[in-house]
Amino acid sequence: METYAPCPSCHRLNRISLGQGAKAPVCGACKADIPMQALVVEVDAVGLQKLIRLEAFKAWLVQDSA
Ligand SMILES: [Zn+2]
Repeated sequence: METYAPCPSCHRLNRISLGQGAKAPVCGACKADIPMQALVVEVDAVGLQKLIRLEAFKAWLVQDSA
């Protein structure tokens, strides 16, 4: 299981593995800690916009391949 989370420092989206044994997530670009509480990511306004765009992009992919 994995999710996407924006870095609070540089705002790049990171793919994060979840589940038992998963390491505390750090940004792949700047190595900042990515705060996770349970499976919920703390998202600021910029990160939220990126997540929304990512979801829109996924929806477009599904439509395009159907
Ligand atoms: Zn970062």
